[in-house]
Amino acid sequence: MHIDILTLFPEMFDGVMRSSILRKAQEAAAFNYQTIDFREYTANKHYKVDDTPYGGGAGMVLMPQPIFDAVEDVAKKSDKKPRIVLLCPQGETYTQQKAEEFAREEHLVFICGHYEGYDERIRQELVTDEISIGDYVLTGGELGAMVIIDSVVRLLPGVLGNEASASQDSFSNGLLEHPHYTRPANFRGMEVPSVLLSGHHKNIDDWRKKQSIQRTFERRKDLLEKYPLSDQEKDWIKDFEDDK
Ligand code: SAM
Repeated sequence: MHIDILTLFPEMFDGVMRSSILRKAQEAAAFNYQTIDFREYTANKHYKVDDTPYGGGAGMVLMPQPIFDAVEDVAKKSDKKPRIVLLCPQGETYTQQKAEEFAREEHLVFICGHYEGYDERIRQELVTDEISIGDYVLTGGELGAMVIIDSVVRLLPGVLGNEASASQDSFSNGLLEHPHYTRPANFRGMEVPSVLLSGHHKNIDDWRKKQSIQRTFERRKDLLEKYPLSDQEKDWIKDFEDDK
């Protein structure tokens, strides 16, 4: 996978892209990336990328010309049209399903905004996806792009040591993940559930499934509405409701 990031602040990516699993994934050639300072594409002699809004009002608006030119330039790297992702609080809320969709692409382009917003023609003509990372407003799109890149790269083949671990994560199968425990078996009087020490794999799987359903029931009932429950799982939910 190749990732292009259009940003006015390329240095923001240095620490994140050079650490931990993102660094290892590049060393393993699972992906590579380039930051593009779209100020370098300005056609005006003052290197301006923004201007005041037509009609008046507060803030500055990113002009279409540098962003169109930069995107058209990086799009030449692929035969296929890349996914062009605009970071924006008005976009579709980012989910694990979207991460899985992006992980199947070969070329992703992220446009990180700043200031008041983008000229509307960027939204209308240039982008394939408008993505928000949540219902709050950041100063720029860089942190959002990093969130998306991190969640996509860990899904690429060979990036996580244990292939199974990504498929069991919260949201991957529509549920929150079950609790985890490690050594010691008794910490300050708090004991690890005995089933996990039993070595009985079927019982451990059943316990984890029930815990996963219970945790989702307690914290994210909205996820359960979309999840196809088995008869056994419906019975568990009745028990959780009775216990409330
Ligand atoms: N005036 C804009 C609005 O109300 O929609 C907000 C602009 S915001 C201050 C500046 C930039 O930060 C946006 O263009 C976008 O790139 C990024 N940004 C802010 N909040 C975001 C969010 N929740 N998700 C993704 N990007 C966000």
